Amino acid sequence: MFEPVIPYLLTLAFALAAIGAMRRVRLWRRGQVSPVAFWQGLAAMPRRYLVDLHHVVARDKYMSNTHVATGGGFVLALVLVVLVHGLGLHSAWLVWPLLGASLLMTVGALFVWKRRQKPASELPNSRLSRGPWQRLPKSLLAFSLGFFIATLPAAGILPEGTGSGLLALVLLAVCAWGLGELVFGMAWGGPMKHAFAGALHLAFHRRPARFGGGRDTGLKALDLNADKLGVEKVTDFKWNQLLGFDACVQCGRCESKCPAFAAGQPLNPKKLIQDMVTSLAAQEEVAYRGSPHPGQEGAARTGCPDKPLVESMLDSQTLWSCTTCRACVEECPMMIEHVDAVVDMRRFLTLERGQTPGKGQEVLENLIATDNPGGLAPASRSHWAADLNMPLMKDIGEVDVLLWVGDGAFDMRNQRTLRALVQLMRAAGVDFAFLGNEELDSGDLARRLGDEATFQRLAKANIRTLGKYRFNRIVTADPHSLQSLGTEYAELGGELNVVHHSELLAELHQQGKLAFSNGQSGKLTYHDPCYLGRYNGVYDAPRYLLDQLGFERTEMERSGFRSRCCGGGGGAPVTDIPGERRIADMRMDDARSVDAELMAVACPQCTLMMEGVVEPRPEVKDIAELLLDALVQPAEQPNKEEAHV
Ligand code: SF4
Ligand code: SF4
Repeated sequence: MFEPVIPYLLTLAFALAAIGAMRRVRLWRRGQVSPVAFWQGLAAMPRRYLVDLHHVVARDKYMSNTHVATGGGFVLALVLVVLVHGLGLHSAWLVWPLLGASLLMTVGALFVWKRRQKPASELPNSRLSRGPWQRLPKSLLAFSLGFFIATLPAAGILPEGTGSGLLALVLLAVCAWGLGELVFGMAWGGPMKHAFAGALHLAFHRRPARFGGGRDTGLKALDLNADKLGVEKVTDFKWNQLLGFDACVQCGRCESKCPAFAAGQPLNPKKLIQDMVTSLAAQEEVAYRGSPHPGQEGAARTGCPDKPLVESMLDSQTLWSCTTCRACVEECPMMIEHVDAVVDMRRFLTLERGQTPGKGQEVLENLIATDNPGGLAPASRSHWAADLNMPLMKDIGEVDVLLWVGDGAFDMRNQRTLRALVQLMRAAGVDFAFLGNEELDSGDLARRLGDEATFQRLAKANIRTLGKYRFNRIVTADPHSLQSLGTEYAELGGELNVVHHSELLAELHQQGKLAFSNGQSGKLTYHDPCYLGRYNGVYDAPRYLLDQLGFERTEMERSGFRSRCCGGGGGAPVTDIPGERRIADMRMDDARSVDAELMAVACPQCTLMMEGVVEPRPEVKDIAELLLDALVQPAEQPNKEEAHV
């Protein structure tokens, strides 16, 4: 047998892997500084891998079982190979577990192989990249079977020295192949790179608060005094963002859930991440063997870390197609942050180049001039409430609940929702008031369009205004305002307690302050707004409320954390990048496919997008409107003495 050669083979594989790892680390270090808790991150890595990452992978049982067998079997087998064959420790306590681990890995590898045999047209496998990834099952089998056979003599199953010279050479070649892909290839850019980069990405993740069941969805503030605003070249990303891109396994889960990709707009989140990897490693684009950005199958490009991304590798339309819905981020088993990357690159285009497309530029100019995206007279912000006799914060100074009106104030359709909300709060005796013309746009749209300067100006002005008054919490019917005020103002000094109107109304119902008739009939479905669900984790309150009304509530196939975007987020309606279909049309088809007569919504943007779908289609109503229709408690005028939630 070739036993004496194995220690040299192992030493060579590990030495080359170490050199490759250093090269890869050098590539990541070309990114910008980003402080991390180094030792804490390393210590947390096993738990993040076994719990957080596995939690996402486990949504696909086939894949998670396969990965446990293959990955777990490999790690165990590799350690034992070093002990048994590298150090010559032929103890039965090591040899038999090595045989077991190799067999476990073989079973996993066979499932990987089976999964990759399906034709490219068959879902879900068509989203898997091919190319080098197709050879991975064979390499896994080479490692597991090669070392299984090589260990049989040490276990006494075959006599020592079994096999002719030729057979031994074949076995040596097989083991070398397996080691080459799985150890040496781990750091030199093969498919197994994901294990090396992925583990470190978990340790040094830019958003450690995502682990342990946490949520971290707010965009990070940009230093407006920096020499360059936003990301122009791939090396303008933070170093740990580059590390994150390198962890991508090209599984295409992000691609399969991206509404822009499904609509045929020129965006595929998987390809986008690979564009970053290709640029960083100065590779040829042809090495990528997955689905492209729809409609962009032109000349192959070559990556370059020192060239602007939107010239060398990307079309700007790719960046402007994103609705920032976070479906990709939620789905990614490697916990990669696509939305951060998109907005970082938009920031450069908007702030440094002034290249916001479509009506984006006009909207930003409106926000600068009038503090509202429509460019309407600032003094008209509270016209919608002229007949409601609403208390203003500047008159009373202190309330229990501050109503944050949001963009719905300027839109006649969404004013109906606001009026319904006001009536419901009055019926429940809530002590509330609003800012009137003192409220400015939350800055959500400006921020997603990359205009961080306008966002920060609006945010700071709003924080100053809110700081003048006393209130226990803010309620809003707009999940985009909920996200900005509740999550993203904190970095700028605005720690605010903000709830969505569905949460407040559910609470009032549970407290017996609101009662509804359950006499409604018909089939209703609820559309989860991305900024309420995936961004803020509010899934139950809207459903709880709808269940009080008597409708037959049915879920669309894509609901909850997998809800499909309405197409209205991230400034997509104003940049308006053409595709083959409209995202809103696809979402309405989801509702039609469950025979819904009524679609309940909980966001002004969703209301506008869904009502923009041509009829016949299910009727669209905000939860507040549906509740008001079913309200059985007579509406009362506010009474400050009694009114406390
Ligand atoms: S955030 Fe939504 S639209 Fe943007 S890439 Fe991800 S899935 Fe696609
Ligand atoms: S970015 Fe994440 S979800 Fe998308 S292909 Fe890569 S690993 Fe899979």
